[in-house]
Amino acid sequence: MADQFSESDIRPINFESGQKQALEQDIEWLLERKDSFVKVSCPACGSDRSRTLFHKYGLTYRECDNCETLYISPRPTGKILEEFYKNSKNYAFWAKYIYPQSEKIRKTKIVTPRVQRISTLAEEYGISKNKIVEVGAGFGTFGQVIVESGEFNHYYAVEPTPDLARECEAKGLNVIMEPIEKAYLEVTNADVVVSFEVIEHLFNPKDFIKKCTSLMGPNSLLILTCPNWKGFETQVLMEGSDTFDAEHLNYFSPSSMKLCLESLGLEVLKLFTPGEIDVDIVKSKIEKGFEVKEDKFIQYLTSRTDKETLNNFQRFLQKNNLSTHMWVAAKKIDL
Ligand SMILES: [Zn+2]
Repeated sequence: MADQFSESDIRPINFESGQKQALEQDIEWLLERKDSFVKVSCPACGSDRSRTLFHKYGLTYRECDNCETLYISPRPTGKILEEFYKNSKNYAFWAKYIYPQSEKIRKTKIVTPRVQRISTLAEEYGISKNKIVEVGAGFGTFGQVIVESGEFNHYYAVEPTPDLARECEAKGLNVIMEPIEKAYLEVTNADVVVSFEVIEHLFNPKDFIKKCTSLMGPNSLLILTCPNWKGFETQVLMEGSDTFDAEHLNYFSPSSMKLCLESLGLEVLKLFTPGEIDVDIVKSKIEKGFEVKEDKFIQYLTSRTDKETLNNFQRFLQKNNLSTHMWVAAKKIDL
């Protein structure tokens, strides 16, 4: 089990206002292009039946009637998103301030347990630990830790954004500076393909997952992480949750994730929600004046019980797939 940590460990509070400003500028940039947004069907199951659940930042969040995936529609096109990430003030802020200050603690509390979890999953399902590919490698922190750990023989980072790819290269990693659809030209037959917190950002997550499977070898694992919007933090805070930001377009639940992967010829081996900070996030929102509508229990839980009770409650959420942070491991169905 991962060591416990709190929200402020990974998002230092001294940067709160600066980051908020950067995020606001990003949202403004996006909304200026709202006329070019397009309506989409459910990104998990393709159904057109959905209802509006709430609006936030001038965006419409719809819930699929068929599979309960929550998604933004109308949404920015792939082309707008590409521009967005190139110009994002929020990403620049993270790169300059938040990552450098929180990198050390992220490594110990998030990335090292992540490496261990992946290694354990590979062993559990009899997967060779020869070649691992990370799609969307970002700053290369995971790559660095997994290479140092020696758990896998070869690591490849797929990272199309030039600035980030250079960060990965500077860390001495094998980098494929191509979008996912061209990555197979440089790497195939991976034993494990991982992608952390990417699919929620994409115009078409299903298409992306399909492309990830093209990198997989015959006896291999696909491991994805993303928010579980049926988790405690997001269900309690709903539109007040920072998980619902302008960048996240797709919000799966455990069942909609399963449905989506199965429709792509994958079998879900394990789905779990090992999130650590649901209770901490809810507690700090309430302390800052957020009102949980008519929920006396949540108020009581977060303000009147002790640390041990809160930790136990978080463990309960983890055990029952009720945390907002989700992991899924799947394999290709043998034809
Ligand atoms: Zn659906």
